[in-house]
Amino acid sequence: MEKNILNNSIDRSWIEKLDNPLVISGPCSAESEKQIKETAIRMDTSYVKVFRAGIWKPRTKPNNFEGIGKVGLQWLKNVKKNTGLMVATEVANAEHVKLALSFDIDILWIGARSTASPFTVQEIADSLKGKEDKIILVKNPIHPDLELWIGALERLFSKGVKKLGVIHRGFYTYKTSKYRNQPNWNILLNFRSILPRIPIICDPSHICGNKKGILEISKIAFHFFRCDGLMIESHCDPDHAWSDAQQQITPEKLLEMLKKLIYSNNYNDEKSQNQLDSLRILIDEIDENIITLLAERMKISKKLGILKKKYNIALLQKNRWEYILNKSIKLGKELGVSEEIIEEIFKIFHKESINIQKY
Ligand code: PEP
Ligand code: MN
Repeated sequence: MEKNILNNSIDRSWIEKLDNPLVISGPCSAESEKQIKETAIRMDTSYVKVFRAGIWKPRTKPNNFEGIGKVGLQWLKNVKKNTGLMVATEVANAEHVKLALSFDIDILWIGARSTASPFTVQEIADSLKGKEDKIILVKNPIHPDLELWIGALERLFSKGVKKLGVIHRGFYTYKTSKYRNQPNWNILLNFRSILPRIPIICDPSHICGNKKGILEISKIAFHFFRCDGLMIESHCDPDHAWSDAQQQITPEKLLEMLKKLIYSNNYNDEKSQNQLDSLRILIDEIDENIITLLAERMKISKKLGILKKKYNIALLQKNRWEYILNKSIKLGKELGVSEEIIEEIFKIFHKESINIQKY
């Protein structure tokens, strides 16, 4: 894959000064001065270097909490003064940028829904005129579109912003999955082959959508994919959080987890073992997708069986079976999968479909 021209001029100095992994943590949303203060005070600053909080929250559906707004910027400024932590928030338009900069917020990030909108990204990039020295992080767009993600970086870069980084927060898929957003590690690998110098921060909170998966995703990100940092949502009272309550953890849990992560020796110094492990993670991810799709296929097959019974149609439809098999063999050939394998797999699918429909 071709390397992008951005590579030569990316400024990594900001992240190289900070710990590896750089840990960014704090609540999904700023809710009250007390909540911000308490969460920040309970943060162990020898592990966490940046405090995050969403001030303006882009919600998928209306009538949810859409952020506390400008007043929260002062709370973040106070955190910076009282704890020495750097502070970060999400911006989604020029007005947000102007306000965040006026409160001396150290790091701005562009959220997944905004990265998907070129007009929004352009507006943000234009609004950084004279402030090109800011650290700007770009979350991946909600859907798996690598070009759109890179395009957002190019828009910022062409306005002179060089202290860039990206946040891998996973990708939405229209199917049930154990993740809130699929990690799609293969996309991250492609991203890195095009832009190897841009710091990558993994956001396991938005990938998992729950508390229990965060450590596992963090280990994969840090040990296998060598991400430069982690963004993990934490809250002084996670169960009562106004947004993303199911995935936030307390600062104490976070510390426990970071210790486990940093001292776990999953990463093998041998290059060959590492390459094997990374590929195995890609295979595991594909296997999970295959099983999820298979379960979907079986559900539809069951519905089909109910209709066949209702309309008194024979379970085995020879023409339909031959059509599926031939179509799949043809596609397999185009993609380099042998006829034998396709035939074997589809025979099993077919047998199972008939079984499901019998009962
Ligand atoms: C967030 O960081 O709280 C957030 C809204 O994330 P995303 O843009 O990844 O959905
Ligand atoms: Mn969130």
